[in-house]
Amino acid sequence: MRIQSNFKICSICLKEKELTFEHIIPESIGGILESDIQCSDCNNRKLGSKLVSKAKRTYTIRLAINYLKNNLPKLFNKIEKGQVYIARKNDNTITEAVLKNGKIKSKAEKADDGSINVDRQSTDKKLREILGKEGLSKEEIENKLDEFKKIEVDKQHKLTDSITVIKRKFFSWFQKPSEAYMDERVIALIAYNYLCMVIGEIIIDSRMNFLREFILDGTKTDNLIIDQIPYTNKYAPYHKIFSEPGETEIKVTIVLFGSIISFVTVKNLSVPKEYNWILVQDLEERSVMISESFEAVKKREIYKA
Ligand SMILES: [Zn+2]
Repeated sequence: MRIQSNFKICSICLKEKELTFEHIIPESIGGILESDIQCSDCNNRKLGSKLVSKAKRTYTIRLAINYLKNNLPKLFNKIEKGQVYIARKNDNTITEAVLKNGKIKSKAEKADDGSINVDRQSTDKKLREILGKEGLSKEEIENKLDEFKKIEVDKQHKLTDSITVIKRKFFSWFQKPSEAYMDERVIALIAYNYLCMVIGEIIIDSRMNFLREFILDGTKTDNLIIDQIPYTNKYAPYHKIFSEPGETEIKVTIVLFGSIISFVTVKNLSVPKEYNWILVQDLEERSVMISESFEAVKKREIYKA
């Protein structure tokens, strides 16, 4: 869903370039609404690949989407695709796996004793390869694969003179924790994108350079305060952003999946009180609502994009 901005220059590099539509909240974590506030160079090269694409690896985001996977199965698969899972083997060691096509696939690895660990889905292929190198005929290989199918879990089995196999069972898989908190630069970027939409080109003023500098290279000044409440146990399939304008600062609250809350205080920015726009993205309906006040939200006086 797109909202046309009134920007004539890129909101990040402030250059007169062709502007492309970019998600206000990163698409990788379910963002729906787009606006043309940045050039493609800032979108892709400066921010996208380095910063925004990593947002989905945040552990709090993964916890939230895991909780909401029945409501948001598509987004769950999108966020979890390629993420790392771990499980305990019955010898108490930990093994790693990756989510691929909706299935957990343990990583192939070589152990210290020279043995190879292979995922169940890949064992036939790997055994054919190894037995082929041993010089077995096609028929002999198929017989050995049948033999392998019949062996019990945790029992060592000598398949040939030089190949011993063992089937292992893993205990339940769980998500491997990555960064616990959201990257502050991603939070600042979401707040900035929202402010671009709400207050428009006022944001381009040079007094706001500190905000752009933080987003681009992480240089933080006292003019910017970011606080995070990573978990409130009130998961819901929506993202919400709203602001509280003051005389000398504006406070932006970002609520992701109803639970992950960030507060961004931007100083030196005075905006009129009526700039209290509430942006709600319903992730189930895939709809965007923009409203002027909480009262209006309650009365469903909303602009549906
Ligand atoms: Zn730019």
